Amino acid sequence: MADGNTPHVAIIPSPGIGHLIPLVELAKRLLDIHGFTVTFIIPGDSPPSKAQRSVLNSLPSSIASVFLPPADLSDVPSTARIETRISLTVTRSNPALRELFGSLSAEKRLPAVLVVDLFGTDAFDVAAEFHVSPYIFYASNANVLTFLLHLPKLDETVSCEFRELTEPVIIPGCVPITGKDFVDPCQDRKDESYKWLLHNVKRFKEAEGILVNSFVDLEPNTIKIVQEPAPDKPPVYLIGPLVNSGSHDADVNDEYKCLNWLDNQPFGSVLYVSFGSGGTLTFEQFIELALGLAESGKRFLWVIRSPSGIASSSYFNPQSRNDPFSFLPQGFLDRTKEKGLVVGSWAPQAQILTHTSIGGFLTHCGWNSSLESIVNGVPLIAWPLYAEQKMNALLLVDVGAALRARLGEDGVVGREEVARVVKGLIEGEEGNAVRKKMKELKEGAVRVLRDDGFSTKSLNEVSLKWKAHQRKIDQEQES
Ligand code: UDP
Repeated sequence: MADGNTPHVAIIPSPGIGHLIPLVELAKRLLDIHGFTVTFIIPGDSPPSKAQRSVLNSLPSSIASVFLPPADLSDVPSTARIETRISLTVTRSNPALRELFGSLSAEKRLPAVLVVDLFGTDAFDVAAEFHVSPYIFYASNANVLTFLLHLPKLDETVSCEFRELTEPVIIPGCVPITGKDFVDPCQDRKDESYKWLLHNVKRFKEAEGILVNSFVDLEPNTIKIVQEPAPDKPPVYLIGPLVNSGSHDADVNDEYKCLNWLDNQPFGSVLYVSFGSGGTLTFEQFIELALGLAESGKRFLWVIRSPSGIASSSYFNPQSRNDPFSFLPQGFLDRTKEKGLVVGSWAPQAQILTHTSIGGFLTHCGWNSSLESIVNGVPLIAWPLYAEQKMNALLLVDVGAALRARLGEDGVVGREEVARVVKGLIEGEEGNAVRKKMKELKEGAVRVLRDDGFSTKSLNEVSLKWKAHQRKIDQEQES
């Protein structure tokens, strides 16, 4: 943790590895470029996961981690949605956070700034008590952020469930969006998860600034609008793309197996298939995807997880509890052994996406996965599952970075559709168009992170503010 003179930032990631990964990349930039020390303060409702530990243990010593005692969620029904669990975990960790800030203050090591993510705004109460400047890191894109900033107004003006709206909602700067594609917690306004989302979003205005993990080439119009000053909206800084730079949880054998196998495949020939750290398919969908991949005749590297009725069922524990291989169609591995490699639960995605044999990525459109693909110029097939992924998919298709796998009337993407879209991406004209767009975006991503790039300048601006606030905090601590 910081000594008194080094600028010091505290970061609270919401539970879930997908929240931690981009914040780790932010911490590295703050340390390497701006000379901050960083303390990760980790709330949870159980002891830290192997994946969390592995990410945090890989960090340099100027980035410290403090694990708060597990929050008690024993009164929360097991059916509560992840957004409710995440928000409650952060909120109920406030007493432990207060105690930690108290000790840091006594040691004159109080951070100048507290950065939280979408579900962490209740920690602002503690930040205010200690005059620590509150910021939000929004780990998804400006399009979804614009939607969220608009949500309190939608909440006031729409009386029905959003999913019942018959016309797409037009929000300035956003891709038009039907209610069914709104972020998951908006699908049932009576559910606690919607109340928590609205609660957090309404507190966004208390932040001194919102940092967004996106970049100007990807959504230029949205960015222009979201950065326009408005009452009740803190300044918005585009600082992305910040992407996973290493493997954190892959089994070394699996890591070796994947990369070795890719080494032996032709250039740009392999479709990487993965649904993030927690995405799961229904059994029926799992089978259709398997059969569609086989039918496409294309090469694939598929990270499988045991099917489940809940799309985000592995979010807190990425390792499948059951043997996912036992769910594959009979004889599948044998039939596809010349063309495909299947690995269980987790793969070294950062390395996979940089491999020259990769020609496409069938993704659940988690924002980290989407950005990791973009910085490597890998074209996408959008297969959104939960959280804000449907909105991400709309943006990615709209910008020309992804093809969409179409759902059948039964809500399942059939095997023929899987084969069609896979062939289309790897060898079709439509795939070429997406590849071309991805190349442009990849170049844009490099440009914005140069010394004089848009995202670098935005982070410079923020870091100057933070350093000024540190001086103020230091003076207060001295007096
Ligand atoms: N990830 C990985 N290996 C896997 C699955 C996921 O390394 O097998 C990493 C991936 O590179 C990304 C993160 O986990 O950085 C997943 O974040 P994303 O926002 O894409 O989705 P989430 O898991 O939060 O739904």
